[in-house]
Amino acid sequence: MNIRTHWRRLLDHAFNPCCAFCHLPCISGHPLCERCHAELPWLLPEQNQPLSNHVNSLSAFAYQPPISNLLLGIKFGKNLHELATLGELTATGLLPQLEQIPEAILPVPLHVSRLHKRGFNQALELVRPLAKQLGAPLLTDVIQRSKATQPQTELDSSQRQYNLRQAFQLDKPLRYKRLAIFDDVITTGATARELVALLQHNGAEQVEIWSCARAILRQSHELMPQIDYH
Ligand SMILES: [Zn+2]
Repeated sequence: MNIRTHWRRLLDHAFNPCCAFCHLPCISGHPLCERCHAELPWLLPEQNQPLSNHVNSLSAFAYQPPISNLLLGIKFGKNLHELATLGELTATGLLPQLEQIPEAILPVPLHVSRLHKRGFNQALELVRPLAKQLGAPLLTDVIQRSKATQPQTELDSSQRQYNLRQAFQLDKPLRYKRLAIFDDVITTGATARELVALLQHNGAEQVEIWSCARAILRQSHELMPQIDYH
């Protein structure tokens, strides 16, 4: 190695922070190294199936390791460093897929009792980097989760929808027509559909659903109904 290469590597290392997963030097401007970035379960565009006829759904990742482990760790361990990394990666995965910028982004609200227990809303924290890049406001006080829904883990799809019925309420008039709902994980889409219905009932004309990860079966791309994240 000649002296110029040696110094360039030292400078690269000094100016490019370490990979958040393995501590090798990062790709410039990204939180991960090239190898860790390539090994993530980025969702293929054709796997972003609409949740219903008129509601587009976009996710950055398939809900598979290491993303699934990171999301569960964040939920139970309050690891805010990983939350920031995952938020940046979510923005990286979603930005190229966006056809238009919504007027505002609605992170799926937590019930106030769960918010106090956890200390943060993971959906809100995960979408912050993307909202900042898009210059879109985050709606955090327009809709609240008015019902502490029972854990959905052991409910089937129709029971889940019933469990969520009127789980949300509008606290303020909705000033926007084009919105994106953001959740950490989309499983059956029951939560997102409930929010879409509420927004449309209150004047929204175009609503998309975005998430960090989407639960899919590798072969059939069907949604996995048995996982609950809220
Ligand atoms: Zn790495």
